[in-house]
Amino acid sequence: MPSVSQQQRADAIKSFVDRVSRNIEYPKSVHDGTPSKPSQYFAKNVLTMEQLQSCLPKPVFERLLAQQAGQQPIDRPTADAVAHAAKVWALERGATHFTHWFQPQTNATAEKHDSFLSLKYHFNGSLIFTTAMESFSGKELMQAEPDASSFPNGGCRSTFEARGYTVWDTNSPMFLQEGPHGTKTLYIPSVFISYNGEALDEKTILLRSGEAVNRKSLELLHLLGQQNIRKVVPTLGCEQEFFLLDRLTYSLRPDLKLTGRSLLGCVPPKHQQLEDHYFGQIPSRVLACLSEAELELWKLGVPIKTRHNEVAPQQFEMAPIFEEASVAVDHNLLTMEVLHKVAHRHKLKALFHEKPFKGVNGSGKHCNWSLQTDSGENLLDPSDKPEENYRFLLFLAAILWGVNEHQGLLRAAIASSSNQWRLGANEAPPSIISVFMGAQLNEVLEALEEGRQVKEFPAPKVKSISVGGKNIDLKIHNIPQVNRDATDRNRTSPFAFTGNKFEFRAVGSKQSPSFPVAIINAVTTAGLERVIGELKSQPNPASIDSIKACLKKVLKECHAIRFEGDGYSAEWRAEAERRGLLHIRTEPDAFNQLISKKNKFMLTELTGIMTEEELESRFHVMNEKFVKDMVIEAKTLEMIVNQLVIPATFAYRQELFSVFQAAATWAAAERKAVEALNKPLEDCQQGIEKVTELVAKVEAESDIEKASKLAVGLVPLMEQTRLAVDTIEAKLSDNHYPMPKYTELLFN
Ligand code: ADP
Ligand code: MG
Repeated sequence: MPSVSQQQRADAIKSFVDRVSRNIEYPKSVHDGTPSKPSQYFAKNVLTMEQLQSCLPKPVFERLLAQQAGQQPIDRPTADAVAHAAKVWALERGATHFTHWFQPQTNATAEKHDSFLSLKYHFNGSLIFTTAMESFSGKELMQAEPDASSFPNGGCRSTFEARGYTVWDTNSPMFLQEGPHGTKTLYIPSVFISYNGEALDEKTILLRSGEAVNRKSLELLHLLGQQNIRKVVPTLGCEQEFFLLDRLTYSLRPDLKLTGRSLLGCVPPKHQQLEDHYFGQIPSRVLACLSEAELELWKLGVPIKTRHNEVAPQQFEMAPIFEEASVAVDHNLLTMEVLHKVAHRHKLKALFHEKPFKGVNGSGKHCNWSLQTDSGENLLDPSDKPEENYRFLLFLAAILWGVNEHQGLLRAAIASSSNQWRLGANEAPPSIISVFMGAQLNEVLEALEEGRQVKEFPAPKVKSISVGGKNIDLKIHNIPQVNRDATDRNRTSPFAFTGNKFEFRAVGSKQSPSFPVAIINAVTTAGLERVIGELKSQPNPASIDSIKACLKKVLKECHAIRFEGDGYSAEWRAEAERRGLLHIRTEPDAFNQLISKKNKFMLTELTGIMTEEELESRFHVMNEKFVKDMVIEAKTLEMIVNQLVIPATFAYRQELFSVFQAAATWAAAERKAVEALNKPLEDCQQGIEKVTELVAKVEAESDIEKASKLAVGLVPLMEQTRLAVDTIEAKLSDNHYPMPKYTELLFN
C-alpha cells in the first residue's frame, strides 16, 4: 500500500504527464483572419502619448508635455481633460474599474480598485432620484488616498496618522489589464507618499535619482562644451530569471508555498552538471506559458525580446528591450505579475525566489544600465577608439569612482533574506562588489593611470571574441562576418561592463529593481561630482591635458574596485580583503551601510535622492522584513520537521521494528537501517529545538537586534537542521518521504 503522501506524489506526476498544453489565441485580422504581426498589437492596451495627443485639445496636450518635462505642475482643467480622455478610452474597451498602481517597499505592487460607476442625485421636493453614470475626474486621476496604514513604513508614520497618497506618475503611461473571466481595469502608475510628503515607495526615490544623475551629467557635458544636450536619462533592461514548476507538485511542498524556497531536500544525482539545460530546447508546456505571457506583455507595451532555458533544470529567463529606467522598472514588475498569473493558467508555478533549490543555480535579475542623451546617444558607448573618447572615459571614471566610494551601498541595495542564500553560492556573484571592464578597456584605463601610451592590442585568435572592437574573421567561408564586442563577458563579476552598458548582476530575481537602480544613479551622480570637481580644479577644464590629468587622478583613487579575474574564487576573497574592499557577509551588516556617515551624506545631501527620515525608514523596513522572513522560515522548518519528517521517520522505523519482532532469525539488515536513522533523527530534533529556542529568545528585542542575531545564529542552525533532515531523506524508504523530492520538482 502506498502512503498518503506517496499516492499524492504519484497522482501529481500522473496529472502532469496526462495534462494537455494550453492553446494560445494569437490576435488575427478581423477582415481576413490572417495572423496579426506583433507590432500591430504591441501596446494595444496602453493609453500612449500618441493616443492622448489625438484626443486632447492641443493646448491641453502641450500643458501635459510641459508637466512631464518638469516645467510646470499640472492644472485642474488639464487633469480633467486627460481623465476624460482616459475614461472614454477605457470604457470603450470594456473597463469597469480604475486603480492607482504603486510600489510599496514590499518588492511587489499594490492596487485598490474603484469603479467608474457614480450616482447623480436629483431632488424633487422630499423625493430623491438617482441616475447611474460613469465618472472619472481629474482629481481622481491625479491622486488617491488609499487607507495605507498597513504598508511598510519603518516608522515614517504611526498607524493613527496613516494618511498616504498615491499620485499619478505622468511619465509612465496608463494601461488596461485584462484580468480573469473578462475583467478589465484601467491602471494608473503612481508614486506613494505620506501625508508629510515622504516617499513610502520605491518609485519616488528612483525618479529623484534619475533627476539627480541627469543634472550632474548635463553639468559635465556642458563643461565639455556639449550645450546641445538638454537631457540625459538612465536606461535599463532587466534580464529576469525564474523557475517554473508543476503546480501540483509545488503545492505539496509547504516550504515552497510559504517561503518560496525549499528549506530541505537532497540534491538529486543529476542536476545541472551536464550543462544540458542552458539554452536547450524550451519544453513545450513552458514555451506555451512564456508565449502567452509575452503576448499579454506585448499588449501592455512591455517590449519582451528574449526567452531561453537557464542553467538549472526548470530555470528560465526572459528579457525586454531596454527603456527609460523608471518605465523599465514598471515593466519588470508587470512582467513578474503577468508571468505569475499566466503560469497559473498553465498549471505551473513561477518561482522568483533567488535560491529555491540547494546545489543548483539561483536566480538573478541582471540590471543592464546605461545613460542616454536626448539625441539618442549612449554615453557608455566606447566607440572604435575608446582611448580617445574622452567623454566616454570621464563618465566611466565617474561610475567607477562612485561604485568604489559607495560599494557598501550597492551591497545594501541587493541585501535581502532571500538573496543571502544566493550571493556567493553556485554561479552567483560574491558579496564583494567589484567591477569588470574587459581586457581592452582595462588596458586603456591602466595606461591613463600610468600616463603612458595604450599598448597595441594583440590580434584576436581565430574564433576568439575576447578582444578588439571590429569584426571577427572566423575563417570559415560560408559564415557571415561576426560583430565582436570590445569586451568579453565575465559571468563572475557582480558589476560588469558589457560592451556599452553596465550589468549589475548581483540584483536578486525577486526584488524590485527600483532601489538598486536608484543607487546606481546615485553613486554615478556622486562620481560625476568628483570628476567635475577635479576637472574644474584644472587650468582649462575642457582641454585634453586637463581631462587626462583628471582621469589619471580619479582612476587611481578607485583602482581597487576593478577586478578582471574569477570573482567566484577563494583567491579573490583574500585579494579583495588585501585591497581593502568591503566583504559584507551578513544582510544586517549590509543594511547598516545605508546609514553609514559617508553613504548617508551622499544620499541625503549630495544627491538629495532621500531625506534622512526616508533613509531611516528604509533601514528599518529592511531590517523588519528580514526578521519577518527569517522567522517565517524558521517556523516553517519547525512545522515540516515536527509534523512531517519526524512522524514519517517514526513510521518507517516502526515498519522495520515489526520485521524484528516477526523475524524468526535476527533481522540484521533492518537493524542496520534503523540504527542509521538514529543519529540524524537526534540531530534533527536537537536542531529544530535550537531553532525554536533562538526565535523565542530574540522575540522581545528590537528588529535591528533581532536581525543581526538571526543572521548570525539562525542561518547556521537552519543549515545544520537541514543537513540532518537531508540525511534522513537519503536513508528513508521513498514510500515514507512526506513530500515531493527535488527529482519530482525539477524533472517532470
Ligand atoms: P546578455 O547577452 O547579457 O543576455 P543582451 O545583449 O541580451 O545581454 O542584453 C541584455 C539586456 O540589456 C537587454 O534587456 C537589453 O535591452 C539591455 N540593454 C542593451 N543595451 C542597453 C542600454 N544601452 N541600456 C540599458 N540596457 C541595455
Ligand atoms: Mg546578461
